[in-house]
Amino acid sequence: MKKTKIICSIGPASRKYDVMKSMVENGMNVARINFSHATEIEMKETVDLVHKINKELKTNIGILYDTKGPDFRTGKVKEDIILKEGNTIKLVKDDIIGTSEAITVNYKDALDKINIDDIILLEDGLMKLLVIDKDLKGLTCSIINGGVLGSRKGINVPGVNLEVPFISDEDMKDITYACHHDGDFLALSFVSSKEDILEVKEILKKENSDMQIISKVESNTALSNLDDIIKYSDGIMVARGDLGVEVPMKELPIIQKQIIEKCRKAGKFCIVATEMLASMYTSSRPTRAEVTDIANAVLDGTDAVMLSGETTTGKYPIDAVKYMAEIVENTEKYIDYENIVKPEYEADITDTIARSVVDASNMLDVKVIVAATLSGFTAEKISNLRPKTIILAACPKEKVAHHLSLRFGVYATLLPVYESTDKMVEEAIKKTKEFISLKENDLIVITGGFPNNAPVKRTNFLKIERI
Ligand code: PGA
Ligand code: MN
Repeated sequence: MKKTKIICSIGPASRKYDVMKSMVENGMNVARINFSHATEIEMKETVDLVHKINKELKTNIGILYDTKGPDFRTGKVKEDIILKEGNTIKLVKDDIIGTSEAITVNYKDALDKINIDDIILLEDGLMKLLVIDKDLKGLTCSIINGGVLGSRKGINVPGVNLEVPFISDEDMKDITYACHHDGDFLALSFVSSKEDILEVKEILKKENSDMQIISKVESNTALSNLDDIIKYSDGIMVARGDLGVEVPMKELPIIQKQIIEKCRKAGKFCIVATEMLASMYTSSRPTRAEVTDIANAVLDGTDAVMLSGETTTGKYPIDAVKYMAEIVENTEKYIDYENIVKPEYEADITDTIARSVVDASNMLDVKVIVAATLSGFTAEKISNLRPKTIILAACPKEKVAHHLSLRFGVYATLLPVYESTDKMVEEAIKKTKEFISLKENDLIVITGGFPNNAPVKRTNFLKIERI
């Protein structure tokens, strides 16, 4: 079984029972719903499909909602306008319908933060403007790279903090929606500081939601506040799409390695995203460069990889998952498990047991580590230490099983809480046999916190069983 998790963005190409089911059978672990694209009806359809498939296949596919975030966009144009190199165009605060002479933007105040000589990129850098004049009405720009501009296209101004409010009214509505529609993870677009995360945590608290927060690192500001952002998040997404517009693209490979390493040290999960199999949007096979990129993300130590357009509107959603799963699983054989970066937090009882579990399972070549866990904590701790074998989390709550869907090497199965340790071990072994085939003399390691219903999170038990 593969250990690296695969997130699939869901769209028209994959919002179908047969397709999604096949994607799950081929290695999809989490369904991503993007608030920037999906309508409410579509979101409901996706959630219903995930539930149905989870029930049928006894899987624990998690649901990840991804916010629009403070994205700075151009306003409406009547019809696509042509930006010609050498011409000028105005970006104005007045709410106009755009023409080739002037367009407006969604956050008017942001124009005040941009200055003469700043570079403005449109549509992921496809078009490039240079600011040559500024007045109270807005900016005048010279067109450096032209193109065709439609309505509401993304604007990036590298190196400039536009101070766009982090949570718009629309985001607020979306986040509340996710809280009440089975969200397991909430990915926050364009996080810039820990304050952004704290603001969202307040909303989740008010709505009584236990969604895990994934901060998407996709700006220079986020990079400069990276340590804090990692500390306050459950996981991080290396959002290479926008990041590749904000920083020189040649920096991306190193930034990716640095972010993953920091996450590994902090014991937080990490996702590498965007263009991982971009060519499979239209082609039934990946390029050599894409195969190598995915393999390198695994060797860097990521927990998960993500598919975007490949599975939303691409022509080969199932094949994309299949290729991705094969590539990660093959690469996992070459991870240097003993020496991969380990968490640097202070050792406590749980951590000490987790380390012993990993050492024992590596030394004895056990088939599976079974972690009885109420909150998922034990399984997360062990996953962070990257044992060679897979981890089966036996947990009583479906929600916890879903949260573990993004953790490297962890699969979950539902098991009630037992008062006695012996009974627990006996039932856990039964469950394990449903999950993987075990032969006589196979070894498994069982761990957990006992009594199983103790109020505090702690792992204090390790047993090695011979089948
Ligand atoms: P997006 O985020 O697909 O929501 O833009 C990912 C990225 O920027 O890479
Ligand atoms: Mn993005």
